[in-house]
Amino acid sequence: MKLCFVGTGYVGLVSGVCFADIGYEVICVDRDKEKIRRLRNGINPIYEPGLDELIQKNTNANRLTFSDNLHVSIKKSDIIFLAVGTPTSKDGNSADLSQLFSVVKQIQKIKKHKIIVTKSTVPVGTNDKIDKILNTKSKTFSIVSNPEFLREGEAIKDFKFPDRIVIGSKSKSVSEIMRKLYRPLINKGASFLSCSLKSAELIKYASNAFLATKISFINELANLCEKVSVNVEDVAIGIGLDKRIGPRFLRAGPAYGGSCFPKDTKALITTARKYVSPLSIVSAVVKFNDERKKYIENKIIKLLGSNLKKKTICFLGVTFKANTDDTRDSSAMKMIPRFASLGIRVNYYDPSGEKNFFKKKNIFFFNNLYSATENIDLIVIHTEWDEFKNLDFKKILKKNRKINIYDLRNLYDTNYFKNKKISYYSIGRP
Ligand code: NAD
Repeated sequence: MKLCFVGTGYVGLVSGVCFADIGYEVICVDRDKEKIRRLRNGINPIYEPGLDELIQKNTNANRLTFSDNLHVSIKKSDIIFLAVGTPTSKDGNSADLSQLFSVVKQIQKIKKHKIIVTKSTVPVGTNDKIDKILNTKSKTFSIVSNPEFLREGEAIKDFKFPDRIVIGSKSKSVSEIMRKLYRPLINKGASFLSCSLKSAELIKYASNAFLATKISFINELANLCEKVSVNVEDVAIGIGLDKRIGPRFLRAGPAYGGSCFPKDTKALITTARKYVSPLSIVSAVVKFNDERKKYIENKIIKLLGSNLKKKTICFLGVTFKANTDDTRDSSAMKMIPRFASLGIRVNYYDPSGEKNFFKKKNIFFFNNLYSATENIDLIVIHTEWDEFKNLDFKKILKKNRKINIYDLRNLYDTNYFKNKKISYYSIGRP
């Protein structure tokens, strides 16, 4: 069985490489010729722990190849996975499906039977549209919806040990082919759910909306905890021990970000509006999350005090989470430019490197953590990278008389800083 992954981004590349690693022959295709050239030379375009090694191993074993020729790659393959981006449209709310439908247009030119699997996150009814476009005269293509649930930073583990594999299809036999394809993962304990195309599409959006709700719920409770001197972590543990609630996604922090939750919650609300069935809870979550960025921004400005133009903040981490280089919809993308526009100098350090987006006035990248923290007024721990969990404060204080730390990830015990020249603030803790 030959597989083709169209779109070698965070999802397409990881899934393609991992399928190769479980023994399939895989072609990863992208329209970005430079990306493909680099991949062919063994250069991984994204930061994802463990991925470099798997690319090398499977390329050497001749199971994994890279191409910028969509037509030829599709022709050679039996199952075509669509893993292109579905970002937010210019309207700021709905999903932009132009990348997806441009690939579908190319597939139309193929005359032989293929299984077309949509891995990209797409609104309810999209796979029916693909079916209509591709199967006008004869039934040449079998359409499958197979949403992806991997998390950046833990993508390989998530691919190899998923909680569930969701397959939406109109055909029992095609669903069985997909079950066979995923058998190595099912044998290791993944649940397999076969359902309709539309159910699979909605399961993905509903999952992300639910997780975003959980995060916003604990973030809002953290605000209350700060007012009533309660530790939000005790509350999170206390409620998370209830099996009906569960402990995960209950860590208070900054607004949620990343390439999925913000865009998918908005796209789901747009779909619901279209069908005149508003989702008031998800709408409240989106509103709260947007306001949270401002809330934290204002707290940072308050911590800096007067004379903002003479102040320097150091951001530790700018990606939306640790172990990824992805900054899409990260809180830092909103906050840092705002501070810079107020005349505040912003130093930043991120283990995944400099970001082009921040090549702006008053924003300075450092490739050394301790250089970034020299002569500053405030450290904002924005991302929970491991190297921020055990900072050398003696070293930091050598270059600063006194510092404030605003730890948006609660990486340190609040008692740790007593009797030090450090004022420590965190999220939802007295
Ligand atoms: P991405 O932007 O990182 O990658 C998309 C890739 O598709 C790019 O490399 C782009 O060049 C390529 N592409 C676009 N049009 C193409 C075309 N016509 N032919 C060939 N290649 C083309 O996107 P991503 O983060 O991997 O997300 C892909 C999809 O998976 C989205 O729908 C997303 O919502 C969903 N998803 C993402 C994650 C995640 O953590 N990133 C998790 C689950 C689901």
